[in-house]
Amino acid sequence: MAVPKRRQSKSRSAIRRAQVMKLPVPNYVPCPRCGEPKLTHRMCAGCGYYKDRLVIEPKEEEQA
Ligand SMILES: [Zn+2]
Repeated sequence: MAVPKRRQSKSRSAIRRAQVMKLPVPNYVPCPRCGEPKLTHRMCAGCGYYKDRLVIEPKEEEQA
């Protein structure tokens, strides 16, 4: 089995792991019904609608 010749320094590992912080932000778009930010191709968490169809009942405490 191939084995690393040298121990990798803490700095090297940190440099590699720092790349995880560069992950792109999910693509939010405003909901066409209520304007709340939602993910594309996903049901809106604010009004419970997806493609003009009610998927789940929205929570009662919305917009007091
Ligand atoms: Zn909505």
